[in-house]
Amino acid sequence: MKNKIEELFGKNQFHDKLLKERIPAEAYASLQRTIQEGAELNPQTASVIAQAMMEWAVERGATHYTHWFQPLTGFTAEKHDSFLEADEEGGMTLRLSGKRLIKGESDASSFPSGGLRSTFEARGYTAWDCTSPAFLKEDNGGITLYIPTAFCSYNGEALDKKTPLLRSMEALNKHALRILRLFGDKETTKVLSNVGAEQEYFLIDKAFLKQRWDIHLTGKTLMGAPPLKGQAATQHYYGAITDRVSRFMNELDEELWKLGIPSKTKHNEAAPCQYEMAPIYATVNIACDQNHLVMETMKKVADRQGLACLLNEKPFPYVNGSGKHNNWSIGTDTGHNLFEPGKTPYDNAQFLIFLSAVIRAVDKHAALLRLSCASASNDRRLGGDEAPPAIISIFVGDDLMDLIEKVKSNVEHPERTVTLRFGVPTLPEVYRDATDRNRTSPFAFTGNKFEFRMPGSSQSLSECNTVLNTIVAESLDHIATRLEMADDFEAEVREIFRDILFGHERILFNGDGYSKEWHEEAARRGLPIIKDTVEAIGVLKNVPTQRLYERYGVFTASELEARYEVLLEQYTEQIRLEGSVVADMARRQIMPVCVEHLSHFATSIVAARASGLDCKGMDEDMVDIDEAASLMRRRLIELERALKAPLPSDKARAAALARDDVLVKTQLLSKACDRLEKLLPRSIWPMPTFDDILYEEIQV
Ligand code: ADP
Ligand code: MG
Repeated sequence: MKNKIEELFGKNQFHDKLLKERIPAEAYASLQRTIQEGAELNPQTASVIAQAMMEWAVERGATHYTHWFQPLTGFTAEKHDSFLEADEEGGMTLRLSGKRLIKGESDASSFPSGGLRSTFEARGYTAWDCTSPAFLKEDNGGITLYIPTAFCSYNGEALDKKTPLLRSMEALNKHALRILRLFGDKETTKVLSNVGAEQEYFLIDKAFLKQRWDIHLTGKTLMGAPPLKGQAATQHYYGAITDRVSRFMNELDEELWKLGIPSKTKHNEAAPCQYEMAPIYATVNIACDQNHLVMETMKKVADRQGLACLLNEKPFPYVNGSGKHNNWSIGTDTGHNLFEPGKTPYDNAQFLIFLSAVIRAVDKHAALLRLSCASASNDRRLGGDEAPPAIISIFVGDDLMDLIEKVKSNVEHPERTVTLRFGVPTLPEVYRDATDRNRTSPFAFTGNKFEFRMPGSSQSLSECNTVLNTIVAESLDHIATRLEMADDFEAEVREIFRDILFGHERILFNGDGYSKEWHEEAARRGLPIIKDTVEAIGVLKNVPTQRLYERYGVFTASELEARYEVLLEQYTEQIRLEGSVVADMARRQIMPVCVEHLSHFATSIVAARASGLDCKGMDEDMVDIDEAASLMRRRLIELERALKAPLPSDKARAAALARDDVLVKTQLLSKACDRLEKLLPRSIWPMPTFDDILYEEIQV
C-alpha cells in the first residue's frame, strides 16, 4: 500500500516529471533553455505546453484556468476563464492556446498601481512564470488550473511583487556566476537563491469572529485587558498537539502535499493558540508562490473545520506575535550551497567571499531590509520582547566570529600566514551544529543559510527576497570587479576580506538583540534604527536606493515612486480602519453596556439601602466605573475627531498623521476600554475576552 504522502504528493501539480512525459523531447528541451538560460520562449513550444497542460487539467476535471498573480495588495489575484472556445465550424471546443498561456490581458484598474497606470491605459497584462509549476485548485464549485504569472502594465512596468523578484534573481545569478568563474568553476550554469519559510499562525474558534469586530475586520484584536493566565503559564511551546488542532494540521498537510508543497514540520509555538509549519526549501520564486498558497490553504482548511486562522503579526497583545522566518541561501544548479563552508582553504576562501558579500550587503542596505518587513501590523510586533528588534544586525555565531577575527589578524600580519593560501584558516568541521541558536537576532547565520526573522506572518516573501538578492548581487558585483582587475588573485581575495570585515564589522552582533543595551550600542555603532513603517518607507526616496535598483534592473525610478505611494496609502488606510473599528466598538458596544450597568447598579443600591442594607463602599465602585466610562467617552470623541479631520493630499504627510494622531488616539481609547473590561461584570461584557479566546478547548 502506498504511503499517504506518496499517494498525494504533487497530485494537483503540473510538475516537471509530468511535463516531460506529456510533451515531445524537443519541446521539453526548448523550455529548459528558457528556464536555464533565459532564452525567449518559442511560440510553438508554448502551444505544445499549453495543450498538454490543458489536457491534464481537463482529465482531472478542470473547467477553467486562471492567470494567478501577486498585485501590490500583498494578496494574490485571479480571474477565471473556462477552456471553452469557438471552433472553426461554429461549434465549441476546449482549448488553451500558447498565446493565452504566455500572456493574459486584464482590466486591472482597481489594483493599486501608485499612478503607474494612467486612467486612459487601464489594462495590464499577466505573463507566465514558466519556472513555477502550474497547479489545480479543487473547490466546492469546481476545479481550476492555476498558472503562476507576473503582472505588468502595458509599458512593461511591474505592477506586482513577482516581477521584481524574478529580476533580482537574474542580477544575483549574473554576479554570483562571475565570482564562481574567478574561482575556476566551469560547470555551474545557474545560481539561484533558495528559501524555506517557517510560517507562524494562530488558530481560534470560528465563533469568536462574529463576536469580535476587530478580529473579523482587521484579523487582530484591537482592545483587551491582560489575560489572567499569561503566556508563561501555558507551556504551549512544543507541547502536545490537541486533537482538534491535529485534525487541522493533518488536513493542511494533505492539501499542501497535493499542491506539491513539501510540508515538513509542524508544532505548537510559544503563545497559546499559536502554531508553526515549515516546508522543505525551494527556489525562491517558487517558495514565495508556495508560501502564498500555504497562507490561503491555512485559511480555507481552518474555515472548513470551524476554526479561524489568524495570520496577522500581532493578533493578541501580551503574548507572542507571529513571524515568517525566511531561511535563505544561494546554491548552484550543480547542487552546491555557496554558504556551506568547504573542506579546503580554497573552498573556504570562496565561502568567505560569499559570506562577506552578505555582510557588506546587509550593512550597506539595512534600511531596505527593514523596509521589506515594514507594515502597520508588523510595527506592533517588531521590537517587542519576543520578536527581533527593528534594528538589523547579523549573528554569525562564536565559531565564525572567531574565524573572522583570525582572518582579520592574518591579513593584518601577512607574515604569519605564509603557509595558508588566501590567509584563510581551515574551518572547524563541526561548525554547523556549533552555530548557536541566538533567537534574538533578526538575521542569523545558521550553518549554511541565513535566517531572516523580521518578516511578518502575513507578508509576501517576495519583498524581502527581492531585497536580499539585489543587495547581495551588488556586493558580488563589487567583489567580482575587484577580482577581475587584480594582478594577484590571492592577494586581492585577502584584501577584500580585510576591507569588508574592517568596513562592515559594526553589523555583526552576537549578543542579546532584545536587550536595552543593544539599542544604545547600535546607536553608538551608527546602525539605522528605524522605528516604524512610515519612517522605513522614506528610504525609497533616497538616491542610493534608486541607483541600486536601477543599476541591477530590479525597479525603475517610476516603479519605485509607485511603490512608495502604494505603501504609504496602505499604511494610512490600515491605521484609519483600525481607528474606525475601535471607535465603533467603543460607541456601539461598550458605551451602551456602561450606561445600562451604571443605571442598574444605582437602582440596585438604592433598592438595597431601602431595605436596610448598608452596601458600604459600593458607591465608590460605581464612581470608578463612571469615571472610567467618562474617560472612554472623552477618548472616543478625540479619536472620532481625528478620523474626521481632512486627509492631507501629500501621502507621506497623511501617513505621518495617521501614525502620530489616529494611531495614538486609537491606542488611548483601547486602553480606556480595557480599564472598563476589568471593572464591569464578565456576564455583560459585550465581547469575548483574551481569556475566553486563548484558552478555548482547542488549546487544552
Ligand atoms: P529550524 O530553524 O526550526 O531548526 P531548519 O533549520 O531545519 O529548522 O529549517 C528551517 C527551514 O529552513 C526549512 O524550511 C528548511 O527547509 C529550510 N532550509 C534548510 N536548509 C536550507 C538552505 N540551504 N537554504 C534555504 N533554506 C533551507
Ligand atoms: Mg528556524
